[in-house]
Order: sequence, then structure tokens, then C-alpha cells
Amino acid sequence: MKVLVDYDLCEGNAVCMEEAPEVFKVDDSDNIHILIENPGEEHREKIERAVKFCPRAALKIE
Ligand code: SF4
Repeated sequence: MKVLVDYDLCEGNAVCMEEAPEVFKVDDSDNIHILIENPGEEHREKIERAVKFCPRAALKIE
């Protein structure tokens, strides 16, 4: 799968990093980084939670 971020919507509150720290990193300047561009199925559950709980609806799985 591929994780997509809408950088215009993201406000860097790091909810996604709490849900899936292997995949999302929000740095000290509140910028988000995708650590694994094409994560395997083993990450799906956590990523789906991140997508669901992102307060800005800035995440998508493709
Ligand atoms: S949870 Fe959403 S708004 Fe917050 S840092 Fe992650 S992508 Fe950005």
C-alpha cells in the first residue's frame, strides 16, 4: 500500500505518529515525514487507525 499525506491539511499534531510511529514522524518543526513509503500489510491496522484519527483528515491509503 502507499500512504499519502495532504501537506496543506496537515497541522503537525502528531496523532498519526502516536498511532503508527514506525510509519509517521513529526519533527520538531511540526513537519510530517513518511518513514516507510510503501508499508507492508503488517502495518495496515495501525495506519488505518492513523487515517481514522487524523483530526485534519490529511491521510489516505492507496
Ligand atoms: S495526524 Fe494528521 S494532521 Fe496530525 S500530523 Fe498526522 S497527518 Fe498531520
